[in-house]
Amino acid sequence: MDIRRAYALQLDERDPLRSYRGEFYLREGIYYMDGNSLGLLSKRAEAALLSLLDSWKQYGIDGWTSGAHPWFYLSEKLGRMCAPLIGAKSDEVILTGSTTSNLHQLLATFYKPTSTRSKILADELNFPTDLYAIHSQIELHGLNPSEHVKLVKSTDGQTLSEENIIAAMTGDVAVAIVPSVLYRSGQVLDMKKIAQVAKERGIILGLDLCHSIGSMPHALHDWEVDFAFWCTYKHLNGGPGSVAGIFVHEQHFGRTPGLAGWFGSDKTKQFDLEEQMTPAQTAGAYQVGTPHVLSLAPIYGSLEMFAEVGIEAIRKKSLQLTAYFMQLIKAELNEFAFLFGNPQDDSRGGHIFLVHNEAARICKALKEAGVIPDFRAPNGIRLAPVALYNSYTDVWETIQILKHIMAEETYKNFENKRGVIA
Ligand SMILES: *Cc1c(COP(=O)(O)O)cnc(C)c1O
Repeated sequence: MDIRRAYALQLDERDPLRSYRGEFYLREGIYYMDGNSLGLLSKRAEAALLSLLDSWKQYGIDGWTSGAHPWFYLSEKLGRMCAPLIGAKSDEVILTGSTTSNLHQLLATFYKPTSTRSKILADELNFPTDLYAIHSQIELHGLNPSEHVKLVKSTDGQTLSEENIIAAMTGDVAVAIVPSVLYRSGQVLDMKKIAQVAKERGIILGLDLCHSIGSMPHALHDWEVDFAFWCTYKHLNGGPGSVAGIFVHEQHFGRTPGLAGWFGSDKTKQFDLEEQMTPAQTAGAYQVGTPHVLSLAPIYGSLEMFAEVGIEAIRKKSLQLTAYFMQLIKAELNEFAFLFGNPQDDSRGGHIFLVHNEAARICKALKEAGVIPDFRAPNGIRLAPVALYNSYTDVWETIQILKHIMAEETYKNFENKRGVIA
């Protein structure tokens, strides 16, 4: 292991994606390692937002059908641009709503409990909002969540065993909601295998892609995943509150949306304003109302870069960045009692997860010293070096700062307590 800064610089020189760093707004002297919570602003995302604002200025109401990006078709257009990132057909994807509201829409559409199949399978490590949505959907059917949620447990508190998930996919499960990458430990689940078992056992499978979209490839269409949902402000760099996404496999096209609204209409009929809705025969059917155009706009600029680079190249660099991170931690921070909560083989997503008793105040000290980490209570530090804008030198500098904080114990200047957002 070469721990010299010169080696990091060499890796940067050889990095085929290095020119994309210049596309982003990075602050001098700040090492941003939180792109899996909120991706950074790119110049192209900014330009796309300004262009959409300009179309409002220029066209007023006619912006719906005029200008470079007519608003009426924008959700569909961005859906098509997202499709290659998840291995979907163009009309299987729509950008709409938020992650949580999309899960509500999809459960309202796909969760049809019967006397024999009434359960929703989830896991105890998933992001809580997914569980909240699952509970309320079960209650809307007049059922009791404590009987109808089947919760897969973790054996080590960080990861899930695929065998346990598969063993829980029994005949009483109607729908399974599974994350692609666990938001804390970064474990990647074997989506293909889970989809295959779901198919064999007649279970509808929905994937939460929040932590995988934009950081690794997927093949949702070929795996025959029934539906998926995700946000666009993490690895996709769409900006705070940017519009989220839905995938529905084409074999389900024509299913009546559980939450119907006029923007789910067949576009040629939407303005007929008939009493009966004619849903689109695409994933577009699962939109509800008027799209949040200004929160869609930046995604356009951002997705252009993903189209140029390709998701395979992003995954390759992402794995190299996190591997380099782990090697430096082992070489430089050995004495400071950090444990890896993330899988160390290639079944990790786009971040690493360090476990340490003093994690809360180590994060505060990191922030003060110019590294932006992500604290996860009670004792986790997520660090996400992002392929499009982080360099190997960023990783190297982060390690030096962390080493200084540990060796000098500067973290002891802070309280070991979390802030409001963590
Ligand atoms: C970030 C994230 C969400 C966020 O949901 P919102 O509706 O965008 O607030 C949901 N699920 C997972 C797994 C996430 O990581």
